[in-house]
Amino acid sequence: MPEQETTETPETAAVIGAGLMGHGIAYLLARAGHQVRVFDTSDDALASLAERHLAIAELLGDDPGLSARARPVSDMGAAVSGAGLVIEAATENVPLKQKIFAQLEAISGPQTILASNTSSIPLKDIGRDMNDTTRLVGTHFWNPPHLVPLVEVSQLGPENLPAVEKTIQILAAAGRHPVHVKRDIPGFIGNRLQHAIKREAIALVAAGICDAETIDDVVKMGFGKRMAVLGPMEQSDLVGLDLTRAIHEVLLSDLDRSQGPHPYLIDLVDSGKLGMDAGQGLRTWTPEQADAVRARLRDFLAAGAKNI
Ligand code: NAD
Repeated sequence: MPEQETTETPETAAVIGAGLMGHGIAYLLARAGHQVRVFDTSDDALASLAERHLAIAELLGDDPGLSARARPVSDMGAAVSGAGLVIEAATENVPLKQKIFAQLEAISGPQTILASNTSSIPLKDIGRDMNDTTRLVGTHFWNPPHLVPLVEVSQLGPENLPAVEKTIQILAAAGRHPVHVKRDIPGFIGNRLQHAIKREAIALVAAGICDAETIDDVVKMGFGKRMAVLGPMEQSDLVGLDLTRAIHEVLLSDLDRSQGPHPYLIDLVDSGKLGMDAGQGLRTWTPEQADAVRARLRDFLAAGAKNI
């Protein structure tokens, strides 16, 4: 293991895992001026990092030289040495993350914040093999992390507040929009909201009220149009809470309350109808239609990210 640098600086960051999320996180940190070291156990992931960063630079119209600030390294100690912030974005697997965080604790400086980009594993499980979890935080980025500004920064316990606040400060300075999730709960905030909508949407389709395309139209052509500028709490205050209460009195008891995946969803999955890659999911897809959706999403998000 290389000799450790003595001081950790917020200007230096490390990313552990250079996959779909990790390469984007490394890019956005480099774009914000950090010197970033990226570690992955896969040689291919490290070898392709620069090329993937050049593609992002092209998409965002950035200086291609910027990608030189994110350096792939094949030794985790070298990646972490001197880093003020380490963000782990390795494969979603409990024992793997437990091992990585026990190692990170041993090889990082005492001030280094150790963050996990886990989408579902409780922080208390991730930190199970650490001696002290005070420096452990959750940083839930959204895909693609270089295009979607939100990061949900989650807090394991009261003693983690200083690490959470420091993380929020670093991410805000890096042009992200961090929010504080005050407890370590499944789905953080965004996925709880997103899946509350999906639960009802799937139940409506299963009950024959409408087809899946209609659900997408209702969201995209209706309330989704205003959601980028008007959150649900703002909207409730805008129309008046008496109206929201009146609607809840009529509606809430009629909404789906499934406690697990809906049988309609289970049937689709069990019959191999997994979505765009399979040509069939909730909707039917040709490869061209699937590509068009991906391009539409990428271009929309890139247009927004160019201004950040
Ligand atoms: P991915 O499979 O694209 O990348 C994971 C990378 O981790 C791979 O390159 C793999 O080689 C590497 N890896 C495996 N073991 C490692 C180790 N011991 N040390 C270092 N690297 C190692 O996965 P992803 O989609 O980028 O997801 C990464 C994390 O981000 C997961 O925890 C996932 O739940 C979370 N996340 C994913 C999304 C998403 O939309 N994909 C969104 C939010 C959060």
